[in-house]
Amino acid sequence: MATILVVEDEPRIARLVSDYLSQAGFRAVEAHDGPAAIDAYSAHRPDLLVIDLGLPGMDGLDVIRAIRLRSDVPIIILSARSEETDRVVGLELGADDYVVKPFGPKELVARVRALLRRMESLGPEEVFRIGPVEVDVPRMRVSVDGSEIDLTPTEFQLVATLAAQPGRVFTRGQLLDAVRGISFESYERAVDAHVKNIRRKFGSKPRQPQFILTVHGVGYKFAEVGS
Ligand code: CA
Repeated sequence: MATILVVEDEPRIARLVSDYLSQAGFRAVEAHDGPAAIDAYSAHRPDLLVIDLGLPGMDGLDVIRAIRLRSDVPIIILSARSEETDRVVGLELGADDYVVKPFGPKELVARVRALLRRMESLGPEEVFRIGPVEVDVPRMRVSVDGSEIDLTPTEFQLVATLAAQPGRVFTRGQLLDAVRGISFESYERAVDAHVKNIRRKFGSKPRQPQFILTVHGVGYKFAEVGS
């Protein structure tokens, strides 16, 4: 049974979310502020985190930052409609998905399921190589010249989608579909935020060429390396 940590300071919402998750067959654990979330993370090692951005004291972004330092656990952000900038920052910090408040609890459960499913079954067992880049789909590992790059599940899925067909141009919408599994509200800046992260991670090694290329006005493609 997968454990989901629900971080939300409004008790009514926290309860609603954990009730729905429990009914859906998950084990739900609640935390009502940032420090409690970090403690609960260490204590329960959840399989997924649902986190409200507007928390008292230590805000949700700080919690995500702290957790990302030690883990690639899948993270879904809950945010108010007005928190668009924070949402993008959250994705840049490595969150995988977001749900805008007010949300239907069934939608949230569907997102949780989709994200966990994405982690479990990433399609057929394959490993492909593009120049120095190796994408190991079953193990969710990407390496460049043999050194592994630490990617979140969403970042991995984006790299795997792009790298499976080097040279093919994907629109942001197509990439969103690829990483979501199910198409909800599309939010193309999310893709830009993830790509920015992936590039930073790929580029943390000196003298690396750029692998994910921007196709202006359209989207992205993986470089046809070898060159
Ligand atoms: Ca709140």
